[in-house]
Amino acid sequence: MSTNKRRASVEPTTIPEEALPGILQPDEPLLEGRDLPLVVLGEMVIMPHMTIPLQVPPGKSYRAMEQAWQEDHHEVLLIFVREYELDGYKSSNPQKLPPIGVIARLDEFAKLQDGTARVILEGLHRAEIQGSLQITPFYRVRCIPVFDPETGGMEVHALMDTVKQQVDEFVDHLGEVPQEAVQFVHRIDRAGHLADIVTWGPAFDFKDRLEVLNTLDPVERLRKAHFVLARQLELLKLRAKIQQDTKEVLDQSQREYFLREQMRVIRRELGEDDDSDDPIDELRRKINEMEAPEYVKSQALHEVKRLAQQGMNSPEAGVIRTYLDWLTNLPWGEEPHGEISIIEAQKVLDEDHYGLEKVKERILEYLAVRKLAGNKMRSPILCFVGPPGVGKTSLGRSVARALDRQFIRTSLGGVRDEAEIRGHRRTYIGAMPGRIIQGIKSVKSNSPVYVLDEVDKVGTDFRGDPTSALLEVLDPEQNSTFSDHYLEIPFDLSKVIFIATANQLEPIPGPLRDRMEIIEIGGYTEDEKLEIARGFLIPKQREFHGLEAEQLTISSDAVIKLIREYTREAGVRNLEREIASLCRKVARKVAAASEPGTEGGPTSFAIDESDVATYLGPERFTFGLAEERDEIGVATGVAWTTAGGDILSIEVLPVKGKGGLQLTGQLGDVMKESAQAAVSYVRYRATELGIDPNYFEEHNIHIHIPEGAVPKDGPSAGITLTTALISAMTGKPVRRDVAMTGEVTLRGKVLGIGGLKEKTLAAHRAGIRTFILPKENAKDIIDLPAKVRNDLTLIPVSSMDEVLKIALASASSDVPAVAVPVA
Ligand code: ADP
Repeated sequence: MSTNKRRASVEPTTIPEEALPGILQPDEPLLEGRDLPLVVLGEMVIMPHMTIPLQVPPGKSYRAMEQAWQEDHHEVLLIFVREYELDGYKSSNPQKLPPIGVIARLDEFAKLQDGTARVILEGLHRAEIQGSLQITPFYRVRCIPVFDPETGGMEVHALMDTVKQQVDEFVDHLGEVPQEAVQFVHRIDRAGHLADIVTWGPAFDFKDRLEVLNTLDPVERLRKAHFVLARQLELLKLRAKIQQDTKEVLDQSQREYFLREQMRVIRRELGEDDDSDDPIDELRRKINEMEAPEYVKSQALHEVKRLAQQGMNSPEAGVIRTYLDWLTNLPWGEEPHGEISIIEAQKVLDEDHYGLEKVKERILEYLAVRKLAGNKMRSPILCFVGPPGVGKTSLGRSVARALDRQFIRTSLGGVRDEAEIRGHRRTYIGAMPGRIIQGIKSVKSNSPVYVLDEVDKVGTDFRGDPTSALLEVLDPEQNSTFSDHYLEIPFDLSKVIFIATANQLEPIPGPLRDRMEIIEIGGYTEDEKLEIARGFLIPKQREFHGLEAEQLTISSDAVIKLIREYTREAGVRNLEREIASLCRKVARKVAAASEPGTEGGPTSFAIDESDVATYLGPERFTFGLAEERDEIGVATGVAWTTAGGDILSIEVLPVKGKGGLQLTGQLGDVMKESAQAAVSYVRYRATELGIDPNYFEEHNIHIHIPEGAVPKDGPSAGITLTTALISAMTGKPVRRDVAMTGEVTLRGKVLGIGGLKEKTLAAHRAGIRTFILPKENAKDIIDLPAKVRNDLTLIPVSSMDEVLKIALASASSDVPAVAVPVA
């Protein structure tokens, strides 16, 4: 406690005589009481056994002490009041003296220059106050000294020990307490004394001290002290814990700060410091320098703010940073593109692709419109439809090259989820943008040529409809503000040139088909394949494999062999693969021959027809007609598959039975129905065809279409099924060089079919000479490749009778009659 406070607390009192209750008359008997000058102290308590120096201002208390200094024992009575109560002693308000005070001895009384006095007071013992004897010029009161009775017993000892322990604990917490003081406390052996001494410690405030002072029973007094100490200790511990916790948190961040600082300094020393030590600032700078619309920047800056608030090490930070990475690395800005040159584009398309005149023309028209109308025109999306390997994707690549743009290709095969196109919302763990935005980021351009492969294989299920998302991507009216779930802000896709590809037209969802301009690419004839191989595939593969033109030549006969016996396809994909395989094998020999330490060897290779098998092993397909001779009950049809067209034989075998019909070879429902229709037609025409009307009651008919692993469907095998049936029942063989396609009605009318080009190509590939087709399709003949038109005899028909006339060979003796095994 500061001297100042003590000085301020000692208040001279000026209370009018009459106003004080309980004033004693000087002649009342002393009753072993003492008459002592009174000193009033504010906000402080001097306990018995305490010695304290004070500075006392002039006033009643000063005069009381001045008087006491002259008396024998230098004794005064101290009372202790609240600061505000001091005023009462000055005013005329009647004051009630407190019940207990402390008799103290003045050890020194020295008047100072400034009118105050320096005193030393030593507390002696409590005293009960009886009343005042005099008020001016200072108080004099009568009091009776109170001494502590003797105490003892286990309980008191235990209490004393506990309090002493508490003192130790206190000292541990506070430190800086002189060891002697602690030892002094330990030596105290009276409960009351101990209570009075500990009260002086910092755990007690004025109120606590006054309460201890006023408690005359020493054990009770010690209990009170114990209680205060316990409460204060609890508080101390709590405070210490809070401090420790705070300290730990601070320590951790301080540690990180120091480490970072060190790292920065080390970096600078190593010359790696690029003044971008704060990643947040670095991000802000990057965003501000980014070439992007304002809404993108503000979204990005907003995220940076969130990142700064959460801290770089928060769990959220990773997610935010990935997002920012996407925002800052997407190509938002304008990209310069020169004028589209139609002449240049045509040159590039011709350089890259053989034939395909119509397709190239359509592409050039499309580019011309784009050039003239720019984005004003809602130009439809080009969609190339055709079997694999006919150059759909590579045409897209050529368009990109012609326009000097980036090229991306994404396959939509098997995409069933809208999120694959449009991305997942950021709330998903591991969310990412959809394929469209991923592609854009990978080429770092917002105006590439973007090929969407396999649009016919997009599926729909419970995860949402990818078609609607695709529509938004492809629709020129909507795609300038394409919304990806992950990005949250729109991305402009209007400058992208989208090209779709598909194997088949039918499975493409209607709304999508409506947005697209369909360009069909049928497949190549053998001659075309040869040209493509010689002019494009061989030079390309040679270059890929690091071979010079003179190091590898492949003769035309060898290429024909590859086409006929190593591939069976509408396009040239496998042909290219086989050529690549030849190049690889030659490359290996050339490379080995040039190494030192080897005997060398030839470094140029000319591959002819006879060498092919040496390089590629035995042939994989037999070239030629499906059947080796004209057979009874077997007819050749053509199917239209995703891989182009293919020929298929249909076998019919009647066995003894009760008129059942058995169908095998993975036939679809439509094909099964057309088999039943064929049977009905034959029954209906039985007499005219020369078939016993009872034949059907006595036979079961088994229809089989080999290559059972391949599912087959569609109505276009109708006339082939009927022909095979009639052949089997009449015993007339079917010409093996005739192939046919057409749907048949119950009355024998032949209806039109699709995919004529692929089907005739397949027949041509297989060495068929005569091709029967529905009259309705006669108009499509003009679109067939010239080679096909010249090599095949194409016969349009409108009835089953015409089919039979062409397809059935007149029964000849070298063909065995159908053996009818007994069932
Ligand atoms: P698709 O996308 O139709 O399945 P690709 O575009 O992948 O087929 O073509 C397969 C390969 O055949 C490519 O290397 C392509 O360049 C080549 N190709 C296809 N058609 C032609 C053609 N008319 N002229 C030159 N090369 C062709």
